[in-house]
Amino acid sequence: MSSVAAANPVVAEAPVAAPRTLVHKFGGTSLADADRYRHVAQLLLARDEHMQVAVVSAMKGVTDALITLAERAACNQADWRDHWHDIRARHGAAAASLLGEHAGATVEWLDARFDHLAEILGALAVIGELPREVRDRVQGLGEVFSAHLLGHHLQALGEDCAVLDAREVLVVGHGELGVDVDWALSAQRLATWRRQHPQKRVVVTGFVARDRDDHVTTLGRNGSDFSGAIFAALFNADELHIWTDVDGVLSADPRIVPEAVQLGTLSYDEACELAYFGAKVVHPQTMSPAIARGLPIIIRNTFHPDHPGTRITASSASSGPIKGLTLSPDLAVLNLEGTGLIGVPGTAERVFAALRNAQVSVVMISQGSSEHSICCVIKQAESTRARDSLLQAFAHELALGQVQRVQLTPGISVLAAVGDGMAGQPGVAARLFESLGRAQVNILAIAQGSSERNISVAIDSHDATKALRAAHAGFWLSPQTFSVGVIGPGNVGAALLQQLRLAQPQLLAKARLDLRLRAVASRSRMLLDQRGLQDDWKPAFDSAASQPADLERFTAHLLSARLPHSLIIDCSGSSEVADHYAAWLAAGIHVVTPNKQAGAGPLDRYQAIHAAAQGSGARFRYEATVGAGLPVITTLRDLVDTGDEVTAIAGIFSGTLAWLFNKYDGSVPFSALVTQARAMVYTEPDPRDDLSGVDVARKLVILAREAGRELSLQDVSVESLVPASLRQNSVEAFMDQLSRMDAALARRLAGARSRGNVLRYVAQLSPTLAPSVGLVELPADHAFANLRLTDNVVQFTTRRYCDNPLVVQGPGAGPEVTAAGVFADVLRVAAGEGARL
Ligand code: ADP
Ligand code: ASP
Ligand code: MG
Repeated sequence: MSSVAAANPVVAEAPVAAPRTLVHKFGGTSLADADRYRHVAQLLLARDEHMQVAVVSAMKGVTDALITLAERAACNQADWRDHWHDIRARHGAAAASLLGEHAGATVEWLDARFDHLAEILGALAVIGELPREVRDRVQGLGEVFSAHLLGHHLQALGEDCAVLDAREVLVVGHGELGVDVDWALSAQRLATWRRQHPQKRVVVTGFVARDRDDHVTTLGRNGSDFSGAIFAALFNADELHIWTDVDGVLSADPRIVPEAVQLGTLSYDEACELAYFGAKVVHPQTMSPAIARGLPIIIRNTFHPDHPGTRITASSASSGPIKGLTLSPDLAVLNLEGTGLIGVPGTAERVFAALRNAQVSVVMISQGSSEHSICCVIKQAESTRARDSLLQAFAHELALGQVQRVQLTPGISVLAAVGDGMAGQPGVAARLFESLGRAQVNILAIAQGSSERNISVAIDSHDATKALRAAHAGFWLSPQTFSVGVIGPGNVGAALLQQLRLAQPQLLAKARLDLRLRAVASRSRMLLDQRGLQDDWKPAFDSAASQPADLERFTAHLLSARLPHSLIIDCSGSSEVADHYAAWLAAGIHVVTPNKQAGAGPLDRYQAIHAAAQGSGARFRYEATVGAGLPVITTLRDLVDTGDEVTAIAGIFSGTLAWLFNKYDGSVPFSALVTQARAMVYTEPDPRDDLSGVDVARKLVILAREAGRELSLQDVSVESLVPASLRQNSVEAFMDQLSRMDAALARRLAGARSRGNVLRYVAQLSPTLAPSVGLVELPADHAFANLRLTDNVVQFTTRRYCDNPLVVQGPGAGPEVTAAGVFADVLRVAAGEGARL
């Protein structure tokens, strides 16, 4: 693992008085067009510094454009002149805008440079190749133009400012470990230059330099940060300020993790680890000249100049074990495996020697203590070369069978968690692995440096975004985020969506939980949204923004966000939707539902659903299928999980039937009560759905299965209260003929009363009798005979609760309480995934 030790472990304090000499480096993001140059100039002028050095990058995108230009010319692609013209026009326009009437000389200067460039490009087109030296010369021109523009703009504003072309003073070599600076020669050349240019304000070209053979060269891509640090050293600066387009170093790349947080301080070591592993905001090499001098580096935002930014010094304030996370893409895993490697000294050395000879740099190494294999992570672009070098180096052992294989896996990214605070603190790796595991990210290799400042894992690049987000949330750096889809936005669904929306701010603030509603589907339409639907989902759903429902696309959309967790809430009553559960769970999508179809439907489907959940670790929760918001299934599950044995279950599981029989005392006909209940929306639109008893039977099946019995709906004897003659016709016809129920029920009631009993619609499961739901007579003092309104009651008789059964009782119907039961399940799932509930 890369780590640069602090050569000068001086803790740099924030200076009390304004520092004397400051170097400011402005990246391309701060120099996109004339307006940005003006902004940067004002920013510099507003600062009261004794000596001020501004190191500049090329205008945004210009380095890339120059490289492409040279490559096109070398391939003699006819359009290279158009590209050349575009770059020239962009600079000409910036000069005209910045310098106004003084632009003449600068435009002439630019024209001369561009004409010369055209000559070089013309020559490339003839020779048909792009020598390194020419490439270096061309790609660094953007910085030369940029420094000229800023310097002359400052001069046009009346400032006495000099422009330093770094190619005149900075001398570097290109060694095996990258660029090394010839400090003595560079300092000497700078001193000579300063004698001619003693100004207090100097604008310097970033990125470019000269090599020891006096050829123009560059410091490597993103090298202007390094230039900033080099000139901070050469000018003996007090601080280096790197100005970019974010508020400092963030805990992760904000383009992948929008919730990334800004870090106030970082140690050099932390910054090096982060930068090395891909946090693009600061280039790793930048740190070495600054570290050697204990020079504070401050990363700041050009667009937010008042923000303090991130201060990088020898030591940092610790806040938790992990400061930040980074991702390095475009890597490959190379694995050498063989029984002949065990206990043989020098194998690792041979692997690395072979890779070095093939000029392959190794990003990460991991070897298990069995020594059966050595695995290293390398750049994808170098991977074929790397594999061939190992095949060659171990050809003999491969032929003898001592080495079984050399295996290359492309498409790899490395995720690294970085922080000084993890040293000596147990559990950091566990937290990382747990977060990744829960997000279903497979880890191919792991490495931790003995500095304990970095844990790196190699993962499939397809999982990279999801992994970064999951780990970021896992370390509490951002909320646990769920990609949520709701099916069936009817009564319960609508109530749930409303409850979710109202609870959102509190869940975010207190539980660090972000339930992001990204899809809503009804039977016919669906609305998909990238970022998260707010209160406005309904009008959008009803408008042309929605599309025909398609559960395959709905699912793909939920997964496409690469959020750490996905969740589908099925508030439909549909068996076809339940057919999807097993596949969803197998794909790692959690499922929460008040829909009874899966719990009470075909046993093989039920078993497949549970097996899928077991296999993937995704959760299937359905508390609201029985007793709405009452904790019925949770209670039953607790009993079973703690080793109790359920012997009998009985209860009143229908709020509608509970209300009807609580009211039915013979003073009004039963049919009148049904009409009244329907008017108060206590019944389903078709009251026969309640009166048939099937819904109650479904709940009994769900509880029986939960208690470990393989029961199916056909096994339950169901007494329907709807006379056979009324079962087929329309709801209206049924309601008209409702009174045909009355006589039979009145007789049952009279009979019961004569025996001092009451009538109740009860579900029963016992060891001896067949499971049943139907109308029974109960003594007037029975617990089931004294419920209020639509209360449900469930009674569990178990080995432990044998004399006095465990009873769960309370309101068991209505969209609000049912939605609350679903919501509670959602929160249980979230807690299981690490939300702080
Ligand atoms: P400049 O042109 O100023 O040098 P860069 O594009 O090289 O800017 O680097 C700044 C960008 O780095 C930011 O806009 C941000 O998107 C990206 N970045 C990646 N990782 C991080 C991180 N951990 N913290 C801050 N920015 C990051
Ligand atoms: N312009 C150079 C690049 O894009 C150097 C830099 O901006 O840091 O790589
Ligand atoms: Mg940069």
